[in-house]
Amino acid sequence: MGERGVIIELLSVPRSQNTEFPNYRKFLMKSITLLGSTGSIGTQTLDIVTQYPNQFRLVGLAAGSNVEMLAAQIRQFRPAIAAIRNQEKFPMLQEAVADLDPQPILLAGEAGIVEVAKYGDAEAVVTGIVGCAGLLPTIAAIEAGKDIALANKETLIAGGPVVLPLVEKHGVKLLPADSEHSAIFQCLQGVPAGGLRRILLTASGGAFRDWPVEKLPEVKVADAIKHPNWSMGRKITVDSATLMNKGLEVIEAHFLFGMNYDQIDIVIHPQSIIHSLIELQDTSVLAQLGWPDMRLPLLYALSWPERIYTDWEQLDLVKAGDLTFREPDHQKYPCMQLAYAAGRAEGSMPAVLNAANEQAVALFLEEKIGYLDIASCIEYVCDRHQADNCPNPTLDDILAADSWARQEVVAAVNTGKFVTSPLVIGH
Ligand code: NDP
Repeated sequence: MGERGVIIELLSVPRSQNTEFPNYRKFLMKSITLLGSTGSIGTQTLDIVTQYPNQFRLVGLAAGSNVEMLAAQIRQFRPAIAAIRNQEKFPMLQEAVADLDPQPILLAGEAGIVEVAKYGDAEAVVTGIVGCAGLLPTIAAIEAGKDIALANKETLIAGGPVVLPLVEKHGVKLLPADSEHSAIFQCLQGVPAGGLRRILLTASGGAFRDWPVEKLPEVKVADAIKHPNWSMGRKITVDSATLMNKGLEVIEAHFLFGMNYDQIDIVIHPQSIIHSLIELQDTSVLAQLGWPDMRLPLLYALSWPERIYTDWEQLDLVKAGDLTFREPDHQKYPCMQLAYAAGRAEGSMPAVLNAANEQAVALFLEEKIGYLDIASCIEYVCDRHQADNCPNPTLDDILAADSWARQEVVAAVNTGKFVTSPLVIGH
């Protein structure tokens, strides 16, 4: 993969050579597979498939453990293949769809999810699994020659050094479905190579943007899973509260657009109307605007470079009202700087940052550590990894770093390392 970033490489292909979608009127049926179908990204993708039955056909579905919802989705969308990660739920899944004719192929476990990812004639795979659990299925899909509509940012943060060369090797497209990266991608259409100077990621500020720092020790799980603007899964909602989500997006932007970390800035924009901005070499700034609705970036990732008409609510600037901006408070959001540091450290450090965050957020959601412990855990584990940071990690190195970081968090919490922890795991 060139130094310019995977998206910049993609845009450098003259449009006339992008023969896949010659124009909107010829937008043919596209076959897609959806990983993480029972989550927030998954169900919004299925809304799109429902609304555009002539544009999108579902080949495969995969979920974690919500067997009832997955069975209902199989009945409605009749995929050729489906898998559930939780092996114990597999008999329930089989029973719930036993009367269907023809029968879909049904699989279980991580191997089952990987099979779904690479199966059949799906042209694109929407990655809506949460966390690094999405890494192996995403790699399988790329190796099977499928384009990726990337929502599962953790995959790129942890696996960037492995995923990007595979994207190049297999000649597939990695299209951003994250709203900020979709905004940047949309702004970049028509920008000449070398024209991009800076990326400005907007952040809502999350659940605690109006809380004083002194009040943060009092944060309860219920406070952290209330996002002011977006309805999302629990993990990403907590990541939005800590601003780790934005930190992860900085690393994601680095991999996608090939910008250095000092060319990627964050600005708090509480209204979430401007989804991100780019600054060009001549200081001109372009932005993409819209109501906070994930269906739009998802649709664009699936229809690029074409634009499909929707009847969704059009943006009304007067109704949107004041659009305001402020600098992020570094004291309130220490995770942001931890992410910049891990991104700059490169190698296996972003995988460690991501895994430590996943584990710490999971423990917080289980009420086993306090809110402020999340950042402390990540900092502690990243510090310990510095001496072992692997500069050019293989997939095995990344998986080993991921599992080491999770164990380090658990061990540190178990030994009472973090003072604000209200409980100790296993006690
Ligand atoms: P959710 O928690 O709502 O959904 C996660 C999905 O992943 C569910 O379908 C879940 O299945 C499945 N899943 C969980 N663990 C596994 C596993 N080990 N193997 C297979 N499937 C698994 O998350 P979101 O939809 O909010 O987020 C998904 C991804 O998209 C994340 O990476 C997030 O950062 C990213 N994203 C999300 C946005 C949003 O608006 N939600 C916006 C931008 C990015 P089940 O529920 O059946 O257990």
